Amino acid sequence: MFWKKRTSEDRPQQMEDAMSCGEIIATPEAPATPSANPTSHSQVDQMLSYVYEKARPITEGKLADYIPELANVQADSFGIAIATTKGKVHKIGDADFEFTIQSTSKALTYCMALELVGRKEVLSRAGVEPSGDPFNAIEFSPVTRRPFNPMVNAGAIAISGLLRDVLGVEKAFDLMLDRFSRAAGRQLSLNESVYRSEAATGHRNRAIGHLLLSVGAMNEPVESALDLYFKQCSIMVTATDLARIGATIANLGFNSLTNEQVFDIDAVRDTQSVMFTCGMYDYSGGWAYEVGIPAKSGVGGGILGVVNRQLGVGTYSPRLDGNGNSVRGIASYRMMSDSLGLHSFDLTNTGSEFVSSFFTSDRAEN
Ligand code: GLU
Repeated sequence: MFWKKRTSEDRPQQMEDAMSCGEIIATPEAPATPSANPTSHSQVDQMLSYVYEKARPITEGKLADYIPELANVQADSFGIAIATTKGKVHKIGDADFEFTIQSTSKALTYCMALELVGRKEVLSRAGVEPSGDPFNAIEFSPVTRRPFNPMVNAGAIAISGLLRDVLGVEKAFDLMLDRFSRAAGRQLSLNESVYRSEAATGHRNRAIGHLLLSVGAMNEPVESALDLYFKQCSIMVTATDLARIGATIANLGFNSLTNEQVFDIDAVRDTQSVMFTCGMYDYSGGWAYEVGIPAKSGVGGGILGVVNRQLGVGTYSPRLDGNGNSVRGIASYRMMSDSLGLHSFDLTNTGSEFVSSFFTSDRAEN
């Protein structure tokens, strides 16, 4: 991998048009190639501080305010972390500041559900199509009568219901917290006051839960499934945790820090696919196009990114755009993706060593 200079001239005209109407917030230009050996640790840190300094002056966006706890955070907090699949972490700013995981949890619970009951059962509760609706839409696919995907509230609540059914009301949350902690490589905890607020005010999610029950995508009782969903959203993480969780996913489910297989290898593949197509609310298509990294964001201000077989990335900055994504988080990812060639379809993203070994050992025959 290497740093490369990518300028606004490289962007297609449609993207420039979208930016000028405010759909996409302009990203500062990526840094030029700094020297011949860009993979040294100090140069990754140099790139991180460049990205951090460029994104820090961005103050657009608003804090989530549907519960008081989210509106009371430090609006200016900002941290970025990158973790390699081998366990090395690079970070800057408030990368160790705790915030609630919120919707980022949806990717992890989906992965757990796939592992526990397999694709068929999971697909009977939620599909895998981008919805084109807001994350909290009370909208199901007219064809399947199921939520469009597990990254919007309806699909995630259906998955929480499934986990409740399989793991049991008593143990489901403890097992979930344990799995999230193993992915991060440290013990995570629940923010009780966020959980209580989510539970006290989550009537739209309750409506979704009852609708799921009515179409057969949820079993009774709805309330304990919702309780699990509210708790999973209220787990505290840092940008560093998100990067480490991302690295565990990127590393085929194996956490190199703790030497432990945390997620099942097939579940990890399916989870990344859904993150790639549905993980960034209504900006999922634009994100896949511009950033090209499977990711999931949450209204707490975090974004978890997975560069398959290579890195996990975590950002935290709580000011959100109209889609519910962290504004500085998006700007940072755009710069990192361009600078390090992290886009899944970038020609500098070499991916799996196993696959590349075929190309080095095989020669085409005429
Ligand atoms: N707790 C939030 C809700 O269910 C999570 C939303 C999000 O992060 O997208 O409304």
